[in-house]
Amino acid sequence: MFNNKDKSFNYLWIFGIMFVILIGRAMFFDNNSAINVRGSETIESIVGENVSAKPVQLNFSEILAASDTGKIQSVEIRGVDASGVMVDGTRFRGVIDNDARVLERIAASGASLTIDKSRGWVEHLGTWVPILMGIIFIYWIYRGLKGGGMGGMGRMASAMNPTKITVGAKTKVTFADVVGINHAKQEVQEIVDFLKNKEKFQKLGARIPRGVLLSGEPGTGKTLLARAIAGEANVPFFAASGSDFAGIIVGLGVAKIKEIFEMAKKNAPCILFIDEIDAIGMHRGRSSFNDQDREQTLNQLLIEMDGFAGDSGIIVIGATNRPDMLDVALLRPGRFDRQVYIELPDQTGRREILELYAKKVKISPDVNLQNVARGTTGFSGADLENLLNESALLAARNNRKQITPADVEEARDKILMGPKKDRKISAKDLKLTAYHEAGHAFVSLHYKDITDPIHKATIIPRGRALGMVQRLPIDDKVSVSRAEIKADIAISMAGRSAEEIFFGPGAVSTGAEADIANATYLARRSITMAGLSDKIGPVAINQVDTFGRRSALENASEKTAEMVDVEIRAWIDAAHKDARAIIFKNKAMVKTLAEELLKRETLSHEEIEKIVFVKKKKK
Ligand code: ADP
Ligand code: ZN
Repeated sequence: MFNNKDKSFNYLWIFGIMFVILIGRAMFFDNNSAINVRGSETIESIVGENVSAKPVQLNFSEILAASDTGKIQSVEIRGVDASGVMVDGTRFRGVIDNDARVLERIAASGASLTIDKSRGWVEHLGTWVPILMGIIFIYWIYRGLKGGGMGGMGRMASAMNPTKITVGAKTKVTFADVVGINHAKQEVQEIVDFLKNKEKFQKLGARIPRGVLLSGEPGTGKTLLARAIAGEANVPFFAASGSDFAGIIVGLGVAKIKEIFEMAKKNAPCILFIDEIDAIGMHRGRSSFNDQDREQTLNQLLIEMDGFAGDSGIIVIGATNRPDMLDVALLRPGRFDRQVYIELPDQTGRREILELYAKKVKISPDVNLQNVARGTTGFSGADLENLLNESALLAARNNRKQITPADVEEARDKILMGPKKDRKISAKDLKLTAYHEAGHAFVSLHYKDITDPIHKATIIPRGRALGMVQRLPIDDKVSVSRAEIKADIAISMAGRSAEEIFFGPGAVSTGAEADIANATYLARRSITMAGLSDKIGPVAINQVDTFGRRSALENASEKTAEMVDVEIRAWIDAAHKDARAIIFKNKAMVKTLAEELLKRETLSHEEIEKIVFVKKKKK
């Protein structure tokens, strides 16, 4: 940190000089434009509005020539800048020789001539102000460095870069605004209690929390929760983002850390929230860019956190979606020693979040939020809020007074798969897609007691998909049985199977690419990680470590790797055969489904069941 002073000082000189040059330039340019603006105002007030919008640029001899031939009506001169209006109303400007004889010559032509004397003063200003500012600036930094360590730098830092630091405002957000993540709420309740009732904790000799690390996917409500803690405890909330601390100027991060901690100390008890803390707190050596500076910033953060006594009443809350990337130094006792993991909300959580935000929009009672929650596995709180927002936009676009179930459905598909495509699809492709999707739909109906029920089938292209069959889980799944996986693989292969059966092997298309990838993924994962293959046995061949990193075939000998390949193929082949058999036996029914899809484009679960059921009855 100390040698950093010298280093940053060098940078500062360069910076200061650049500043002088930039300001100087800016001043001169501003000068110019200021004159022109004033000039044109004067002229407009003389000639009225029928002046041409943009002045033409004339050179000195052209101005003289125009003047000599009596074409100039009026001209205003400041220093060497001339701007004026021709007799025909054209505006012009240019540079002239500011010489008494020239001016006389123009005046003699009969043009009205205005000479602005303020020029001299402006000129001096233009020259001296930037230099003076530069001197003050450098002095300011110098004093800062000598006197208050990096304090001056800090002041400069905030002056240069108006940070996104949210300054100690009391927040109205409370725990009531955070729903669906009860477990996390419970874990931070203690911090609220502490902030509200410091003495009680101290009397008991309880170790007081200093730092809390909230980790979890983006949009799971980390920021919201931090705010709510401040709101519940009725203390000020300071927030900054880790990425704000990484600057091009060496030493900026260190200064900013000092600055916010200084602010927080003055306002304790309070919450100091640092979002994206991984931006400063990465493992050492993880990032190459500006590594040294980042490390100094991190050190400063650690110094600050170690520095304040436990009873200072500042609680630092860090947030990250990459806890595995953090430097262990951050997680030591007395620093971020409390960690709260915020999971993506489960079905109940999603429902609660949807209910919260449904209150803020006009929504039809026909929208079944439980169903929406069912169909939004993997959505974060922010995604769910966005879903209702998108739904409201769609409803508004369709001039509806309320959000209908169709709006929510459309918004969900848009978020999941991207917007609908207007792409023109040939009748032939459409037919192939319809049979492909009918294959998926029929086979998933066949397995409906084993695996997720079908939600809808469509041949409306969206994102990269030509069509799709969506299935909705009844619950968020914790584990999946072997039978279910095999059924899922068969359903994946059913699209391709239908193409083969109805159009022949020559016509099969690339439309099954994603299906095949999915089938392969399911089989590989079951076999190499979940131990679901009898041939391979319950050994982990691929492994996922606690940080979610995957290693492919790491623990396999060449022989095992070969066996795995054979086994994956066997699973997929078997599933493919099953799918083909199911479709082949029910060719007529799959055909009806496909023709209905061609007619109606989208079929809901109920519609699909009805078609299949009616057909079955007729038999
Ligand atoms: P993070 O900090 O984890 O990226 P945010 O707290 O910024 O997520 O969440 C973004 C927005 O999403 C919040 O302002 C809020 O509107 C909404 N949101 C996210 N999670 C929840 C939740 N559990 N309850 C209510 N709203 C939520
Ligand atoms: Zn498919």
